Amino acid sequence: MKKHNFYAGPSILPEFTKQKVAEAAIDFAGTGLSVMEVSHRSKEFVAVMDKAIELVKELLHVPEGYSVLFLQGGASTQFLMAPYNLLKKKAAYLNTGSWSSKAIKEAKLIGEIVEVASSKDANFNYIPKGFVIPEDADYFHITSNNTIFGTALLTDPVSPVPLVADMSSDIFSRLIDVSKYDVIYAGAQKNLGPSGATLVIVKDDALGKVDRPIPTMLNYQTHIDKVSMFNTPSVLPVFACLQTLIWLKEKGGVEAMEKINIEKATLLYDELDRNILFEPNIKVVEDRSRMNVTFVMTPEYAEQEKAFLDFATSKGMVGIKGHRSVGGFRASIYNAMPVDSVKAMIGAMQEFEQTI
Ligand code: PMP
Repeated sequence: MKKHNFYAGPSILPEFTKQKVAEAAIDFAGTGLSVMEVSHRSKEFVAVMDKAIELVKELLHVPEGYSVLFLQGGASTQFLMAPYNLLKKKAAYLNTGSWSSKAIKEAKLIGEIVEVASSKDANFNYIPKGFVIPEDADYFHITSNNTIFGTALLTDPVSPVPLVADMSSDIFSRLIDVSKYDVIYAGAQKNLGPSGATLVIVKDDALGKVDRPIPTMLNYQTHIDKVSMFNTPSVLPVFACLQTLIWLKEKGGVEAMEKINIEKATLLYDELDRNILFEPNIKVVEDRSRMNVTFVMTPEYAEQEKAFLDFATSKGMVGIKGHRSVGGFRASIYNAMPVDSVKAMIGAMQEFEQTI
């Protein structure tokens, strides 16, 4: 039976990426060696890193004066690394979920943090609005897509200070204006590749302004100077990321992907609004994530939750159980998720409705 992969991350990858990784696991670039057993300094792998960086710049229209890095340590390391490199005195953070809260916790180790707003009062089921960002903050940090709760900032916020963004779960899903950001970071394991690589886009001019000594591995400049080869990069994940970037370019780039993502999300939210058994968790329409669609069963059918999970599983749906802090269901519909899988999910919801 065909499986429809709705896991939140690690999550679905394009068939193209998996196929190319499978081939390179045996014979990488005609070397007769696996991509896992060649030197990261071999000309074949250096070409992979260079091409991956070039494609990130091309696909996100990264302006001059920015560096693209492939690091390790996940987005969680960036919670600390970004303030270590950028925070002189004070930074502003928007608290929109568990990952924002974790970013705030780390940043507080470095300097004064102003939490400009939080939606914790409502279990993070909306994006706060109308907050004031202090003009003397060094930067304003956002989590553009809240993987667990299913909310998103679908446009770059207006801010008097540069933005820093955790885009782990929506990078490459929509066009962004990189020039508004000092740092963008994203764990690879949603829209890019397997876990083990972390994409960082950093504005070169934003660096070198803090007085504190920065440990070598936590210093962006270290990795900029060595083109992400200061130490051994995660060779296999970076190779896989490159394949996804090639696939994305062939699909028409981020612009084309954004259209498909809107189509997929609209199909699913429309069904959740229509089907009497279900309701979307996020009631504020403009805050709804196009990547992680969270939903529950309506109160009168709440006891059907387990039955629906079993039914959907029997139809090939995988990974739809909601995060424990939200409950219900979560369908993660990242870039690589075909429209047909979203339709299959909707089909399962409609079929289940008929059984009630
Ligand atoms: N930020 C967001 C928005 C996430 O979804 C996650 C989970 N992948 C993280 C940060 C943490 O990422 P990592 O596991 O790569 O440290």
